[in-house]
Amino acid sequence: MRVLGIETSCDETGVAIYDTEQGLVADALYSQVAMHAEYGGVVPELASRDHTRRLLPLIQQVLDAAGMRRDELDAIVYTAGPGLVGALMVGASTAHGMARALNVPVLGVHHMEGHLMAPMLEDCPPEFPFVALLVSGGHTQLVEVRGIGRYRLLGESVDDAAGEAFDKTAKMLGLAYPGGPEVARLAESGDPGRFRFPRPMTDRPGLDFSFSGLKTHTLTALRQLEQAGELDDQARADVARAFEEAVVDTLVIKCRRALDDTGLKRLVMAGGVSANERLRERLAREADKRKARVYYPRGRFCTDNGAMIALAGAQRLLAGERDEIGFMKAVPRWPMETLKAPTGT
Ligand code: ATP
Ligand code: MG
Ligand code: FE
Repeated sequence: MRVLGIETSCDETGVAIYDTEQGLVADALYSQVAMHAEYGGVVPELASRDHTRRLLPLIQQVLDAAGMRRDELDAIVYTAGPGLVGALMVGASTAHGMARALNVPVLGVHHMEGHLMAPMLEDCPPEFPFVALLVSGGHTQLVEVRGIGRYRLLGESVDDAAGEAFDKTAKMLGLAYPGGPEVARLAESGDPGRFRFPRPMTDRPGLDFSFSGLKTHTLTALRQLEQAGELDDQARADVARAFEEAVVDTLVIKCRRALDDTGLKRLVMAGGVSANERLRERLAREADKRKARVYYPRGRFCTDNGAMIALAGAQRLLAGERDEIGFMKAVPRWPMETLKAPTGT
């Protein structure tokens, strides 16, 4: 079955074709990052308009790359939420329109289930069950995954997501949006011994996270340096390093706990922050100690993309799931734990 996947939940237009026998056939992405950069964050109305402009040409580009005609597609899947409602509706209405025209099944997919399945696009995909660390711009969650749609939430952020904390810290440091990669780059030249930032909520049991205090801590540190006349390039790098170390350390401590609590030996990480090199290194080291294994997608499939949506949707289509014709879904808030396993699995 050849499935066209469409992702338009935020500021990336992603399209891919996934073949359930052969794997990923072709994919393409148009990022709106440059357009939103001058506002320091995503402007929802601009995002929707740009998806409208980019989506159809991107679908044609992916069909061309795959050497396929539209009528050779067997199904269409799209991100139905969570995300910006206007942006979601562009993907949802396009998917439903195409499915009606081609007379093929169509299915709305959960964006975080897409992120969760992204490591399965790689050569050594993880087997169920596993612990998943979902760390993106809008989510920080630890989930026990027993199969597709069989999720138990172990813990989550009570305030900001880890990616959001990276983005806000970048802003304070005068770096470009999105901030994660920029903060990581600056942290490279930082001295890890100069400042030590708190590891929030690690001194008590449980698997929840909190990152908003860390952001305030960063702001205070920067203000104090400025007042002392010491806020030079090195000090900025030292702050970036201290912030990154604190976030990574916090995530690692909770992952370790989640593996111990569940007794599982596989840890999957996904979402934009899983592209962070320091986090990958530290988690790999921790996993080694426990004879566990860490799985993550290649860099470009950590952030939003069409391939993860095509793959996640394909799994559910194979189990017989589909949208009712004419009833597109666009769900801005949609907790992942409310998802169900496809019937018959
Ligand atoms: P969600 O998936 O929760 O709806 P989103 O789709 O906006 O949110 P993603 O595209 O998965 O999130 O990830 C984007 C986030 O990842 C941004 O916050 C960005 O700063 C962060 N990020 C990307 N690369 C890195 C990196 N190397 N280190 C840290 N953070 C990173
Ligand atoms: Mg994005
Ligand atoms: Fe995302």
